[in-house]
Amino acid sequence: MHYISTRDSSLRCTAAEAIVRGLSRDGGLLLPSSIPTLTLEDLRAMGPMDYRQRAVRVMKLYLEEFSEDELADFAARAYAVPGKFDDPAVAPIHSTHHKTHFLELWHGPTCAFKDMALQMLPHLLTASLRKTGEDKTACILVATSGDTGKAALEGFRDVAGTKILVFYPRDGVSDIQKLQMVTQEGGNVGVCAVEGNFDDAQSGVKRIFSDEAMRAELAARGCFLSSANSINWGRVLPQIVYYVSTYAELAHRGDIALGDPVNFCVPTGNFGNILAGYYARRMGVPIGKLICASNANNVLTDFIRTGVYDRNRPFHTTISPSMDILISSNLERLLTLLGASDGEVRGYMEQLRTTGRYQVAPALLEQIQEAFCCGFCDDGRTKNAIGKVFSHGRYLMDPHTAVAYTVMMDHRAATGDATPTVVVSTASPFKFCDSVLDALGIADRAAGTGVIGQLAEAAGQPAPRPLAELAGRAVRFEGVTDPAGMAGAVRAML
Ligand SMILES: *Cc1c(COP(=O)(O)O)cnc(C)c1O
Repeated sequence: MHYISTRDSSLRCTAAEAIVRGLSRDGGLLLPSSIPTLTLEDLRAMGPMDYRQRAVRVMKLYLEEFSEDELADFAARAYAVPGKFDDPAVAPIHSTHHKTHFLELWHGPTCAFKDMALQMLPHLLTASLRKTGEDKTACILVATSGDTGKAALEGFRDVAGTKILVFYPRDGVSDIQKLQMVTQEGGNVGVCAVEGNFDDAQSGVKRIFSDEAMRAELAARGCFLSSANSINWGRVLPQIVYYVSTYAELAHRGDIALGDPVNFCVPTGNFGNILAGYYARRMGVPIGKLICASNANNVLTDFIRTGVYDRNRPFHTTISPSMDILISSNLERLLTLLGASDGEVRGYMEQLRTTGRYQVAPALLEQIQEAFCCGFCDDGRTKNAIGKVFSHGRYLMDPHTAVAYTVMMDHRAATGDATPTVVVSTASPFKFCDSVLDALGIADRAAGTGVIGQLAEAAGQPAPRPLAELAGRAVRFEGVTDPAGMAGAVRAML
């Protein structure tokens, strides 16, 4: 198996090269040239395995030049170091009904689903560097709107051969998200605020990446720049694991019969999470529909319904901020997977860049609709769902999960689809205390991190330890720069 670019299928590379590069040189995304398969017998055999073993089994299929021992070592370091994941199942399934299951992907060190991939990526990346003969230090630059920065810091902290520097918009992240980052521990980490919004931080990082003089200077100092964002294949692959694992687990527990279809409803932003679900479906996991859930930024709902992708629309700031996105980069991989030629993909992406809009061919739309359903939900209905599900069964959802839950209920009502459904739960409710307290009808707020304890009391359940302990942590990073000073911050860190 080799890896190819979505925009030029003649550009071939190995898995290790794909992970080291992140993005293809032609601007396309890298993906495997074929999709390995799993039989029902394979899924049955995974039933008694733990999460780590399932991760090795799935990832090995895509990483031919990695040995099983290597992958087992990565999985142990990613998912089994004591104190990292607070649930031995790693990605436990909580069932509120015999046909409604919540896949909780937020038991890792930063309490959001990004941990599932960002705990694994540093190991895949450092091993890939060795395999490609790279001996310089990888300097990971991240611009973050919140969750990714913290998860990348935790993933790369103290990983040999790497340094990581995260830029966040000074006025664009929540107090808890900021505190999570500026108190980050580790000897190879740096965090810096940027005056401006997320786009300023992101443009600054892109500028540094394309600055040839900077690259030469870093190379002379034994470093090269690398990225941890969701277009890297090394972030998609670990996410395929939990779709396969969940199906194997549900069958093993007897919640479904092996071979019966299961739907997954996924709160979607950049399309990375749900794309991993699509890979699992193509590998042979009996997934019925993948339900793509959006908030008021419903560009994907329109796309799946009509085949028209149009980012020319107002941007809404919502209570599910990780889905406030108008360009879903990973959609590009889906187009290739559905058989669009590299020329077609290039054309669509060029139209997106120049006009903000493209329309896929009817045959492609038909294929999208065969696998995907969609829907969206505004902040009001999101809060209603949090309140209602909590009062019925004491199950507390974060706003992103509540968007998916609402869209799943809409889908059931509109289509009569009675397939068991897994709601993919992407964040701990304690990461979004203000909105969740609102949804529970609690208006008086404790100051600062006091809201974490306040929500714990209201919900009758403890906050995850990494969040509960935030209040006592020392602030390590107080640097602020204007966008022009970001390159200087990188130099100072090395
Ligand atoms: C990143 C994120 C999402 C969106 O995931 P994509 O892979 O970008 O579609 C949803 N929910 C939460 C909490 C996230 O952090």
